[in-house]
Amino acid sequence: MGRDWQAEIDAWTERFRHVADPPEPFATALREGWDPAVRRSLAEAAEAYATRHEAWVRQIAGAGVDLVRLDTRGDDCGACRRYAGKGYSLRGETPGLPPPPPLPICPACRHTLNLLTPFFLQSTDTTVEDLIEQAVPYTPPE
Ligand SMILES: [Zn+2]
Repeated sequence: MGRDWQAEIDAWTERFRHVADPPEPFATALREGWDPAVRRSLAEAAEAYATRHEAWVRQIAGAGVDLVRLDTRGDDCGACRRYAGKGYSLRGETPGLPPPPPLPICPACRHTLNLLTPFFLQSTDTTVEDLIEQAVPYTPPE
């Protein structure tokens, strides 16, 4: 099911008024108002990203993957940053870890969910207990 990007863009525009470093194109929209073309292309890009992301999640969850980490590409905004690097449970098979946020979290950011294999965790000297201790459950914008 598609998300209502027009409603989300409205909600995030309000939310970004109170965030120190709003991402583009929200920063410009907060100063100058929304350019309808910019707003349309933001909604289209967010929907395309969400569709690709959902297909990826179905694929890896279907393959039995449960542990994932939310990663940013250095483009995280002040609202999404708190989830960066946190662990999530795709299939609800890791007690104590919340389900991942819907991506994109805000329409401007392009985060990814990456697999956390036991080998990878070991190589970064991280345990599932660490992930659970540092977990940040997603809270949708009010
Ligand atoms: Zn964001």
